[in-house]
Amino acid sequence: MIDLRSDTVTKPSSGMREAMMSAPVGDDVYSDDPTVNSLEERIAELLGAEAALFAPSGSLANQLAMRLLVKPGEEIICDSQAHIVRAELGAAAVFSGITSRTWQADRGLLRADDALNIARPDGGPYLVSTTAIAVENTHNFGGGTIQPIEEIVKLRTQSRALGLAMHLDGARLWNAHVATGISLKDYGRNFDTVSVCLSKGLGAPVGSVLASSKERIASARIWRKRYGGGMRQVGILAAAGHYALDHNLARLADDHARAKKIAQACHAAVPSTIDPSHVDTNIVALNLTNTTLTAAALNDQLKAQGIAASALGPKFLRLVTHLDITDADIEKVCQVLPELLKRAFVA
Ligand SMILES: *Cc1c(COP(=O)(O)O)cnc(C)c1O
Repeated sequence: MIDLRSDTVTKPSSGMREAMMSAPVGDDVYSDDPTVNSLEERIAELLGAEAALFAPSGSLANQLAMRLLVKPGEEIICDSQAHIVRAELGAAAVFSGITSRTWQADRGLLRADDALNIARPDGGPYLVSTTAIAVENTHNFGGGTIQPIEEIVKLRTQSRALGLAMHLDGARLWNAHVATGISLKDYGRNFDTVSVCLSKGLGAPVGSVLASSKERIASARIWRKRYGGGMRQVGILAAAGHYALDHNLARLADDHARAKKIAQACHAAVPSTIDPSHVDTNIVALNLTNTTLTAAALNDQLKAQGIAASALGPKFLRLVTHLDITDADIEKVCQVLPELLKRAFVA
């Protein structure tokens, strides 16, 4: 099966497994694991933050950030397709008493004014007060969209003047960094908290990291334990993260080129399914509106030919490239998929 459902489906390579096997470890609940400690320091440094904390999932890293930035009964605002409001199962409300409001964003693309227009920093005694803004970069359901740095900086400048905090859901910040050449620090400096995933395009089996100030990370450590996310000799997993940063960061550019190829082939078959210029990174978001196909039906037809994708809406099919995909796989996808689209095209 050519598995393009997500960049989370990668399996640890033999080199990564060896690095995991030989990692020095200790009890991380006592902050005694040297491999975890060095990974936290390394990622804090990359993002220009004072400190960082290893977490078992990106969702937990995001939830810790929101817990730190927003009090119960206050709100965080984000775009309506953000992972924190669509894919974390209401955790901010369930765990932290946080409500949310959203703005609409085509392809998840950030425009500072969209956020500023709905922010209500001091709601007074009758309205919910906004205390934080979340930005997702790259944007998952938007199709791997890279957020323009000018809009991030504008939002930071203007929201800080209003006393608002900013969180970056940077599960795929690595992809934005590799695609634009903008440093992780230049992204990170605009946020109070940043989460990054090691288990997406970087290919580690487990792991995310939350970066922030020393004070907030000390508090996040307590909340992580409270949520049951304190782990012991977890340097075995952190070693995979180190290995991923050493070997799998620069190669994300290959994933981006391959996603672009798929998009171009689909566009050539049925232009309305995708604009290849919108494929910024490793995600291909197909719009099947002008075809007789539902995403589920197309998914079934692809599966019959050995290709797996994700049906994320009635007419929305997502394909994600990653390090376990070869050029030969991409060639096959570029033959099979456009053919199925052409057959189902209605002018
Ligand atoms: C994958 C992802 C996360 C975290 O997901 P986990 O499965 O909890 O690790 C967070 N944000 C975005 C945008 C993601 O794509």
